[in-house]
Amino acid sequence: MRVCLDPGHGGMDSGAVSRDGKTNEKSLALDIAKNVAAKLRADGFDVMLTRTGNDAAVELADRAAKAKRWHADMFVSIHLNSEKGGKAGGIETYAMPAQGMQSTSHSGTAPAPDSKRRFPGNANDDGNMQLAFCIHRRLVNAVRGNTGDRGLRRARWVVLREAAMPAALVECGFVSSSKDLAFLRSASGRETVARGIYEGICDFAFGTMAPGLAPRSPKSAPDAAAVPVPTLAMPPLESVQRPEDERPLDASPAVVAAREAALKAAGLTAE
Ligand SMILES: [Zn+2]
Repeated sequence: MRVCLDPGHGGMDSGAVSRDGKTNEKSLALDIAKNVAAKLRADGFDVMLTRTGNDAAVELADRAAKAKRWHADMFVSIHLNSEKGGKAGGIETYAMPAQGMQSTSHSGTAPAPDSKRRFPGNANDDGNMQLAFCIHRRLVNAVRGNTGDRGLRRARWVVLREAAMPAALVECGFVSSSKDLAFLRSASGRETVARGIYEGICDFAFGTMAPGLAPRSPKSAPDAAAVPVPTLAMPPLESVQRPEDERPLDASPAVVAAREAALKAAGLTAE
């Protein structure tokens, strides 16, 4: 079983940066990805990282292409969130919206402009959601008491829509939240996050991808059936900061304008 892990950002692109400037997303994502890779390799998985150093810059389109060239069976992108107010915290896991489905960041009543279009990632509409669900369930369970659950979400991120295999993107907490940041800065916190992602990948690999194999739980983890199912409810919209090129394609100017108006009416500032 081949797993491609994608630590977000890299090179000149630091991703989200903590308020004191001391911690950035690209380093945290790489640290977590390397830890997940070590756990998977110890279990016999073949693992590739889209970047192995912090100086390496990888174009978004190249990330999914690398996974395809390598014939990966699944693709997991690892990111950290940021939000202007510093209040938001918790885990979000994203899957590519199935064809015809709206992105969870789409707030208009009209169909999202790109929802009808078929992207390469739509070839795995069923596997995408199953992988995201498996990871979200384990990760939220692992971090319980340290940070919260912001839901299993859908968005047409470049890496998800171009992936040629089941793919998910995990936002492992907010560097803008003092609580999340303290957790992510501790080695035990990052270990907990890596363990949750690893367990989710194992659940997907053994329970879904290889039905010929008897489903089994990852080492030293509770049985999947004993793990509570996370909430599917979405917390209210917040001014979550995202790099321009990470915005879902279906966030058209009209949708963005409508969302900003809704945020303004709610007394929040839009990015
Ligand atoms: Zn990111």
